[in-house]
Amino acid sequence: MKHINDEKINNLINSEQCSREEFDNIIAKSKQLKRLTTEESAKLLNIKDKDLIKIIFETAEYVKNTIYGKRVVLFVPLYINNICVNECQYCSFCKNNKITIRKKLTIDEIKEQTRILLERGHKRILMLSSESANENDDVEYFVKAIEAIYSVNVGKNKVKRINVNLAPLSIENFKKLKKAGIGTYQIFQETYHDDTYRKLHGTGPKSDPDNRLDAIDRAFKAGIDDIGIGPLYGLYNHKFETLAMFEHISYLEKEFGLGPHVISVPRLEPAYGSELSNSKKYAFSDEDFKQMVAVIRLSVPYTGIIMSTRETAEMRNELLNLGVSQISAESRVSPGGYERPDDHNAIKDVQFQLNDQRSIEEVVSDLIKYGYIPSFCAACYRRERTGKVFMSIAKPGNIKEKCTINALITFKEYLEDFADEEFKKQGNKLIENKISELSDYDREVVNHFFENIKKGNRDEFI
Ligand code: SAM
Repeated sequence: MKHINDEKINNLINSEQCSREEFDNIIAKSKQLKRLTTEESAKLLNIKDKDLIKIIFETAEYVKNTIYGKRVVLFVPLYINNICVNECQYCSFCKNNKITIRKKLTIDEIKEQTRILLERGHKRILMLSSESANENDDVEYFVKAIEAIYSVNVGKNKVKRINVNLAPLSIENFKKLKKAGIGTYQIFQETYHDDTYRKLHGTGPKSDPDNRLDAIDRAFKAGIDDIGIGPLYGLYNHKFETLAMFEHISYLEKEFGLGPHVISVPRLEPAYGSELSNSKKYAFSDEDFKQMVAVIRLSVPYTGIIMSTRETAEMRNELLNLGVSQISAESRVSPGGYERPDDHNAIKDVQFQLNDQRSIEEVVSDLIKYGYIPSFCAACYRRERTGKVFMSIAKPGNIKEKCTINALITFKEYLEDFADEEFKKQGNKLIENKISELSDYDREVVNHFFENIKKGNRDEFI
């Protein structure tokens, strides 16, 4: 696969563990918020000593809190179509899967799903779709879907930002998505291992791994400067995937002067009709998973890490301390899934099984319990703090102040509009604690916005 040297990565995976001195030097570099090389990251991934792993975890928490502060951004996925021409062996939307109930939402249905999500308090949507044989038709549909989602109002609430997870497009078509107002374009490479990629993706448009890798280049060239990447863990060796992703990032940084805005760490889950999705061949332990997430945090300190509801509530709560900065809540992974309140996993239109089906209230309540501010902020994107501009603020650790203030404003709005009295009490207590930690100037700023919220103003940000 382009940009990925399998031999180099295999050598790194099989290399000796580093000395204590080398380890301390890497940790010291991380504490200065410096990006690690692939070689340094490999050394941390190979560590087995429990005391050293504990130091990696503590450093990941330090780096996350220094860059982003104690806020966690919440988003929700919105699947609009599961009729697919691709042959991904691990996915229940695979063209050859006869079990899956297929559906492409109409524009009215997309509006209805959006209305349900807004009524639950969501503000940030990740739109996902399968792929058809005609890219231009797909893009026309995506643009209409994006317009539809942005057009819905529930009281004073509207969707603030739509990110997308979609198949590779041409530069021209990426430009159309940008014009429609997307935030981040996200695409998972699935596996960075060329042979495995080719084996798992049959003959559809997704069969060429280099075309998928190049999607990021084309998105950048089209002017989309916030992009999201990640492997689907469980298809091949997890260390290989992580180190190959770092090599991909190094290539992007060299070529475009910019890495990904976010990294996702999805793990393979059982999917109806997919034997491969139940295979444990490349499964790895939760302990290794945590170490891997912490190493990603240290390796690319300025990049957001996204954790989906593929993981259990317990794992998601634990990973907050290890560097995760964005999480989804009450996700449904099927088109139209938000209309049904019952066990989501049971119906055969889902892409895969979810391990966390908590409501948004439960997720918010846990964030409060662990001292994190739930954030519905989309300010950077709207203030054009994207791409290199964002990185120039985030890299030296200066985005945290803005993140904290905007998180407090959006959380206060959420409490006012969606919480009952008991929940408001819990939330306001967290807010008071967090405000007490602010500088006098920032406290005044927050209080000014809170006065505006009391007056009925919404959607303000710095
Ligand atoms: N057309 C889009 C594309 O080409 O990327 C489809 C994206 S799909 C809706 C979102 C992601 O779900 C995929 O990229 C894949 O990584 C992930 N996925 C598929 N099957 C999965 C499974 N069994 N368990 C966990 N994640 C899965």
